[in-house]
Amino acid sequence: MMKRVILLMSIFLLINSLSQAAIPKPKAYNDRSLIYLTLDDGPNRKTGALLDVLKKHRVKATFFILGKNIKGNEHLIRRIVAEGHLIALHGMTHVREEFYASPITAVRQMKDVQRLIYEVTGIHTNMARTIYGSDAGMTPAHWQAMDEAGFEIWDWNVGSLDHIYKKDNDPIEQRVFNRLEANYEMNIASIILAHDHSMTPKALDTIIRYAKERNYEFRTLEGVHPPYNFFNPWEPNE
Ligand SMILES: [Zn+2]
Repeated sequence: MMKRVILLMSIFLLINSLSQAAIPKPKAYNDRSLIYLTLDDGPNRKTGALLDVLKKHRVKATFFILGKNIKGNEHLIRRIVAEGHLIALHGMTHVREEFYASPITAVRQMKDVQRLIYEVTGIHTNMARTIYGSDAGMTPAHWQAMDEAGFEIWDWNVGSLDHIYKKDNDPIEQRVFNRLEANYEMNIASIILAHDHSMTPKALDTIIRYAKERNYEFRTLEGVHPPYNFFNPWEPNE
């Protein structure tokens, strides 16, 4: 009898330890080993080369699409979706005075790009990034209007400054490395801002290699809550 009890208990303990080993604890959205790579202002003629780099490394990113760039680039929008990336909204014109002119103009631009993306992909998304970041012109009235229209506003915590160092990759790479390290120290996930028109395939390749060597994991922003923005930044992970 005793033997049987011991046997049953050992089986129970074995199964218990196996099941715990098989199911790793899911990472929190703000886990410091996570990188959310975001690419703004596309699609354009450079998007394809960046998609090639992402594909090579099996990295998925989030593309904040500019409405005025959709026409003629529908194939790129479809490719972004087909290759498992997430598509999101970045307004229509990228003209600061037009977008932020009033809460109505901001909402209208987001709704316009939302509709265009729906027409091309069948995807309806409310994930949005306002041009130059939410601290560039969002008043409390803008926030309220965006919220009422159902948009979730995303900023970033790693600015690659690729649009400033367009010709030279080194400062872009070093800046991203430094910011990734700082966020890791702070125990928080990284959201990298880069641009379809400025990030070079070489710089993107180098950044991804750097991150993978350090066991970072790239994810899209799909299903991630709450949205990170300058007015509601994430707390460091426990
Ligand atoms: Zn932009």
